[in-house]
Amino acid sequence: MANDDLKALIRTIPDFPKPGIQFRDITTLLLSPAGLAACIERMVAATDGPVDLVAGIEARGFLFAAALAVPLEAGVLLIRKDGKLPGATIAEDYALEYGQDRIAMHADALAPGARVLLVDDLIATGGTARAAIRLLRKAGAVVTQAQFLVDLPDLGGAAALRGDGLRVDALVA
Ligand code: 5GP
Repeated sequence: MANDDLKALIRTIPDFPKPGIQFRDITTLLLSPAGLAACIERMVAATDGPVDLVAGIEARGFLFAAALAVPLEAGVLLIRKDGKLPGATIAEDYALEYGQDRIAMHADALAPGARVLLVDDLIATGGTARAAIRLLRKAGAVVTQAQFLVDLPDLGGAAALRGDGLRVDALVA
């Protein structure tokens, strides 16, 4: 499947979740067996070196994390909104356009030195991904790569991560 075909499976919903936002809806791609298979195949191929854990960001990132972890022979680590995980957690705050948010992971989810690949459906400003990387590193993870289905390059998130020295891959821009 060509990259343009993959892109065509993602629709844009205007004014969601609020007026002026053009939301990239990936649920249409998830409904396509060929589209989903192509995504996972490419993400696996783009993975640089062995990984111990694939960290997915709530909620759509979980889907890609689990599908990638199986062929990569890695485990899945959940990065969730604060307050959702049952065990002892560590958390990280990050700025939103208005206000701030907090993500968390289980404090004992990884052994120091674990090689972690970060995955989410989309990168926009990169605020969420950068907070996730800070959190993972606080726990002792080695994070050198992040993968996304969609990059919105005008918002600069992927460029900022690359500026921090990370390898960043996205299938659709
Ligand atoms: P950022 O922190 O990079 O500005 O925003 C990325 C986060 O918000 C990701 O977790 C992503 O799931 C979500 N997000 C922001 N905008 C969109 C969008 O247009 N479509 C989708 N599917 N997710 C979005």
